[in-house]
Amino acid sequence: MSSEEPAADAGLFDKVVNLCKRRGFVFPSAEIYGGFRSTYDYGPVGVLLLRNVKDAWWRSMVQLRDDVVGIDAAILSPPAVWEASGHLQNFTDPLVDCRSCHERFRLDKLDDPELCPRCGARGSFTEARQFNLMFKTQAGPVQDAGAVAYLRPETAQGMFTNFANVATTSRKKPPFGIAQVGKSFRNEITPQNFVFRTREFEQMEMEYFVPPEAATKWFEYWCQERYDWYVELGMPKETLRLRPHDADELSHYSTATSDVEFLFPWGWDELEGIANRTDYDLTQHAAHSGERLEYFDQVTGERYVPFVIEPAAGATRTMMAFLMAAYDEEEVRGELRTVLRLHPRLAPYKVAVLPLSRKETLTPLAREVLSLLQPHMMCDYDETQSIGRRYRRQDELGTPFCVTVDFDSLDDAAVTVRERDSMVQDRVPVDGVLDHLRSRLA
Ligand code: ATP
Repeated sequence: MSSEEPAADAGLFDKVVNLCKRRGFVFPSAEIYGGFRSTYDYGPVGVLLLRNVKDAWWRSMVQLRDDVVGIDAAILSPPAVWEASGHLQNFTDPLVDCRSCHERFRLDKLDDPELCPRCGARGSFTEARQFNLMFKTQAGPVQDAGAVAYLRPETAQGMFTNFANVATTSRKKPPFGIAQVGKSFRNEITPQNFVFRTREFEQMEMEYFVPPEAATKWFEYWCQERYDWYVELGMPKETLRLRPHDADELSHYSTATSDVEFLFPWGWDELEGIANRTDYDLTQHAAHSGERLEYFDQVTGERYVPFVIEPAAGATRTMMAFLMAAYDEEEVRGELRTVLRLHPRLAPYKVAVLPLSRKETLTPLAREVLSLLQPHMMCDYDETQSIGRRYRRQDELGTPFCVTVDFDSLDDAAVTVRERDSMVQDRVPVDGVLDHLRSRLA
């Protein structure tokens, strides 16, 4: 690491994991049965944050563009798809067993390929063998070869198998993209680091089809676009970098790949890969399916198989990175305040409505303010505990604004709006509070 690079904050990991459990972002799955390794459930605020990450991606990749359309393809798929894509043969990681403690590891992720990180034995590993990461299952009641199905290990293939359907129905021509957000499954050898690497996770992927000669230009364009997306949503530039792959790291289909990396508590690691997948996928699916998967330009009379530039991001992993980037602690009047400085677009709740006390006199006006805001933004409502503790709770949820209804509100028809980061409070008339919040959230 160069002396100019920021140091990873090793203590941050435990703090964020604890906050996730304590405040309802992420729970271990099936916890009442002791949990199920590497699977997690998203709680009341986690589901909102994750949805906001996916919505922010969709907004930037689909809504704000006229050259990208979306799909939602099936998770279950027949072996033919994975035969053609190369996943049956190539989607493997090198697996080693420790002869001493019998734990299994992914060889390429070990700090020292000779040292078992579990029991400390040296030179105890077996020869590496290739382990396929796809989850195999059976579709229907009959267990024969025709019933074999796979849970998709990436969303990308749905875009390739639907290339002709989408191009025809949406009347798009290269350069154009197909985007998808959804679950993917990989039987990871060593799932680790909370939701960073899990066996079930969500991806946000887009396949951008371009004339072959324009592939390099579009590859560079998407590297920059994707880097900028994280910065616009509040990730500090010093915790973000674009790292081009070395030739020996490239996937079987790629001629160039760059990763967007985030400085996690354990060091730099991948959030997203942007790859030039060439015409590999369309050519493979055309050969295996017998369908023509190419573009015919009616103006020039030219026929070609488009190249594909793919920005492939993980939604769950990115959500975790946004939490780590937003986590902050500061001292306020001799007490430690924990605050999630999340971008308002990502914050689970945009506003919390808090009657100063649980008095019957305040509840009707507080509920009126809540009903005024609810159709326009995600709101929380909380009337238990002291107002100070309720502010702290909202700080830990990353709620940008709290609206407090107090006894003066009954006379002046105004409420106090408190901003999360500065804690500055403003008095705002009830009938102007929606506009006030909207303009500050914009
Ligand atoms: P890695 O090298 O970390 O295994 P990858 O390079 O194989 O990842 P891709 O196939 O490029 O990953 O997938 C695109 C994105 O999907 C990754 O950048 C990551 O954000 C996300 N992703 C991949 N595997 C997982 C996983 N097991 N858990 C959570 N997110 C994942």
